[in-house]
Amino acid sequence: MNRDQTLQRVRERDKPWDIIVIGGGATGVGCALDAASRGLNVLLLEQHDLGKGTSSRSTKLVHGGVRYLAQGDIRLVREALAERSNILQNAPHVVHTQEFIVPCFGLWQKIFYGFGLKFYDLLAGSKRIGRSRVLSRSETIERLPTVNSAGLSGGILYHDGQFDDARLLIDMASTADALGASLLNYAAVLDLLKDEKGAIVGVQFQDAETGEIHNVLSRAVINATGAFCDPIRRMADAKAKPVVTFAQGSHIVLERRFLASDTAMMIPKTSDGRVLFCIPWHNHLIVGTTDTPVGSAILEPEALDAEIDFILATVGDYLTSRPTPDDILSVFAGIRPLVSRSAAKNTAALSRSHELFLDENLITITGGKWTTYRQMAEEAVNSAINVAGLDAGDCITATLAISPPVENGGERLHKDLPYTDTDVVRAVRDEMARSVEDVLARRTRALFLNAAAAIEMAPKTAELMAIELGKDNAWCSGEVAKFTAIAEKYKV
Ligand SMILES: Cc1cc2nc3c(=O)[nH]c(=O)nc-3n(C[C@H](O)[C@H](O)[C@H](O)COP(=O)(O)OP(=O)(O)OC[C@H]3O[C@@H](n4cnc5c(N)ncnc54)[C@H](O)[C@@H]3O)c2cc1C
Repeated sequence: MNRDQTLQRVRERDKPWDIIVIGGGATGVGCALDAASRGLNVLLLEQHDLGKGTSSRSTKLVHGGVRYLAQGDIRLVREALAERSNILQNAPHVVHTQEFIVPCFGLWQKIFYGFGLKFYDLLAGSKRIGRSRVLSRSETIERLPTVNSAGLSGGILYHDGQFDDARLLIDMASTADALGASLLNYAAVLDLLKDEKGAIVGVQFQDAETGEIHNVLSRAVINATGAFCDPIRRMADAKAKPVVTFAQGSHIVLERRFLASDTAMMIPKTSDGRVLFCIPWHNHLIVGTTDTPVGSAILEPEALDAEIDFILATVGDYLTSRPTPDDILSVFAGIRPLVSRSAAKNTAALSRSHELFLDENLITITGGKWTTYRQMAEEAVNSAINVAGLDAGDCITATLAISPPVENGGERLHKDLPYTDTDVVRAVRDEMARSVEDVLARRTRALFLNAAAAIEMAPKTAELMAIELGKDNAWCSGEVAKFTAIAEKYKV
């Protein structure tokens, strides 16, 4: 991916794009990948960096959703389990099968969770990725040596997928780019262009780096802006009623030693009736998440003290060593769009897991899960093909391989994290990284793993980027200051 070349392509294009996608998260990049693989000319515009929104802030699970099973949402679970299998097959370099244990206290819990997770296996059918089973107390302790064993009667072992969300996103974007899609970050859509009858015929966007405004024509426009979708819908129809409200989910990251195991732990019932995951990730431990109503969607949501206290207290009850705020290496939050179908004027509800709306001829796809991005993209692109009468091939993404990044060694930038100078150079040359934050938050996951270490990596990262981008010392200082201000919010 090369931003300058893509901009040049945008400037030179003298006919409408087949599809413009607004939003560079899992859904939008999934749409660009789907459209390009069907032979359509597609342009994706992201206001900040690819993955800056919710798609880099998930719990990192490729899953059917044990929680939705408990809520009886069988169809959603079945759909997501089928997509889990697709992602495992198409992107094995970034997704793997993860073992989980649900610790049980008493016979009733063993029976209840044991049957529940057998049913989860059954729903996956031929796409099952492991067989769940009941573990004895000693087997549970053997697999989870740091689990609090007081009153423990055993556990249930089950399997789901686990991944690096931003890495998969960047690899999807690179794959789409290789198939002919044009993707631009730092390109915010300011308005929709309409013809004399009010039909949408393109978008106006601003290049955040130069301030330049571009008007680009398109036969169909897909709004894949997740929690930010309502302002775009209002550009299509000023009277469009909002369809999303917002809930924040926060996570903390700890040293791996708190759960000294390759097996993850799932706490099946928290005091607020949710589940809490404790998952090994890049040699660290992610613990989350919460569900806190918030008033609006912002790009840098911050975990509340109450959320951090809740996570620490809940996980502390299950571990031999209680983590304290001082043990937290990073804390990150994401915003879920909660979609209300009834508020929309024209709803084409294709599934309960996500929603597709039509405002004039603007197609909006929102809600759902990272796991179901491919299916969401297929439905949105199908809709664009119908709405605009596009000539396109069948969807092939169920079996389309996502290309892995080129692995190339290099010198480590920090003793506590595996990332190297070559990762930085590759991020700039091939993956459209424009800022230190792009590299340390999403091309590598340094910020999400250890905020203090990421801050220490910033000057060297800026220096390496400056060479690639032809920037000066002032740019480096500005970038380090900007990144440090953001990263401080990931510290407790
Ligand atoms: C806390 C939490 C944990 C989760 N964990 C999981 C999990 O473990 N597994 C799972 O499957 N799912 C999980 N999910 C759900 C999953 O993360 C989301 O469904 C998915 O990331 C949504 O992707 P998206 O592309 O729709 O939205 P986003 O990733 O938010 O992307 C929307 C993009 O649109 C851009 N945008 C907005 N306005 C404009 C504009 N005017 N011009 C250009 N661009 C614009 C934004 O900058 C943003 O990058 C989780 C969600 C949360 C909140």
